[in-house]
Amino acid sequence: MVRTVKPLCRLFVTTTKPLGPEPHVRFMDQATAWWGCRAAPITTPSRARLQRHAERAVPEEAQAILAAGLVAHVGLVERGQPYVIPMAYHYDPTTPQTLYLHGGHASRLLRHLASGGPAAIAVTLVDGLVFSRTALYHSVNYRSVVCFAHVTRPLDVEVAARVLEAMIARYFPGRTAGRDYDAAPPLHLDATNVVALEIEEWSAKARRGGPLGPRDHEPDAPGSAGVLDLSTPS
Ligand SMILES: Cc1cc2nc3c(=O)[nH]c(=O)nc-3n(C[C@H](O)[C@H](O)[C@H](O)COP(=O)(O)OP(=O)(O)OC[C@H]3O[C@@H](n4cnc5c(N)ncnc54)[C@H](O)[C@@H]3O)c2cc1C
Repeated sequence: MVRTVKPLCRLFVTTTKPLGPEPHVRFMDQATAWWGCRAAPITTPSRARLQRHAERAVPEEAQAILAAGLVAHVGLVERGQPYVIPMAYHYDPTTPQTLYLHGGHASRLLRHLASGGPAAIAVTLVDGLVFSRTALYHSVNYRSVVCFAHVTRPLDVEVAARVLEAMIARYFPGRTAGRDYDAAPPLHLDATNVVALEIEEWSAKARRGGPLGPRDHEPDAPGSAGVLDLSTPS
């Protein structure tokens, strides 16, 4: 029998690993952690702790990966159903705890986020395809970040306009409102929902290098091994 658990409450838990200079709180959906509300904070294993290939952790690269990425895959759960939606996004390492998304007011994802619903966000850079003389050792060179985030407050329209212009400049470096394109008029801004997600926790992971199969360093062995480079110059 499948048993559905409905969230009963939400709670805030202070984390022991602050992401930035300011202490922050970690938002937890009750359903992820426990069965009922408690007065005292609880401790749970960090959602962002790498369990597989922990040696590939690159937390110091998280900001650079987010700043270089083009697509964020945003995961949410609505009435027990998980969804993942690909989105363009804006990220500025000078405000490292904030990631911006935008879309129409009718967007389910944007409505979920704007109401404070939690999200998991993955950004991936694929740097190469790794081929091995052994099937098991075919792999991918990548850098990726997974963030756990939620919206804490609405943005006012001036900030939203600045974020949209900065986002355009991130995707198209040097492109400037008033010179290369018309800035968004109030009508367009009204039709656009820009949300600032506060990142509560993140993890960054990278795989680099060639194949690790047992015969991959034997040039005379049958078959072939190497890396198909897909990295883009930054
Ligand atoms: C690279 C990229 C960048 C994007 N950037 C933005 C952006 O910045 N802002 C924005 O609003 N939208 C963006 N989109 C479109 C976005 O993915 C959603 O389609 C859109 O935001 C509607 O979201 P929703 O939550 O209302 O989806 P709904 O229309 O409510 O989703 C209903 C169902 O439609 C399907 N679906 C939705 N989107 C997609 C999709 N992209 N591909 C395949 N199936 C889908 C899923 O099965 C989903 O469960 C982008 C898409 C891509 C691929």
